[in-house]
Amino acid sequence: MKLQVHPINLRMSNAYVVELPSALVLVDAGSPGDTHKILSRLNAFRGKPLRLIYITHAHLDHYGAAASIQHATNAPLAIHAEDARALAKGETHLGQVRGRGRLTAALMPIVRRLFPVEAITADHVLQDWQDLGDFGLSGQVLHTPGHTPGSTSLIVDGRLAFVGDLFSTFGKPHTQRLYAHDWSEIEKSLERLNALNLEWLYPGHGRRPLSGEQFASLVSTQR
Ligand SMILES: [Zn+2]
Ligand SMILES: [Zn+2]
Repeated sequence: MKLQVHPINLRMSNAYVVELPSALVLVDAGSPGDTHKILSRLNAFRGKPLRLIYITHAHLDHYGAAASIQHATNAPLAIHAEDARALAKGETHLGQVRGRGRLTAALMPIVRRLFPVEAITADHVLQDWQDLGDFGLSGQVLHTPGHTPGSTSLIVDGRLAFVGDLFSTFGKPHTQRLYAHDWSEIEKSLERLNALNLEWLYPGHGRRPLSGEQFASLVSTQR
């Protein structure tokens, strides 16, 4: 069996189940309150254990249910070194905000009170180009900072990528335009990812992936 990608469309973001022959990898873990939906999807793969919870970056819509999913599954959690501290404190740093992002930034204190995030300490702190073979996955970590300092893309089989918030297909496909720790790093990260000539790229927001060609043309509009 080749691996299969199963999206989980959540209220605020997407998580993905990467189904391997005898195990599962979860990419991102939704918002607080998404635990039940994610666990029921994981449980539908009867007998396949969760080997890894891979978090693309430390924003509450991507790791909000991570602690409760870990309690239920005992799976180890991994995130890049530069986002590990925010995760361990249950924090979400938006960085510099533009456009509509300003509204979210203004509402963040209320969001934090209504949807408290359970902090979680990473079991594995990832570095750029780290191999994930130990988790049964033909995968590598590509450090793609900018949105947050420790944003990464998970590269699988050298042909698929899970990119977190580097771009979105919510509405017309667009690269990150609301929040950035460093805007210039986002451009470099897009180029870095584009150089891999991938087949499919899966975003943290929006209902559809982009083909490698679609992604290349999106990146070319940024130059
Ligand atoms: Zn984000
Ligand atoms: Zn997000």
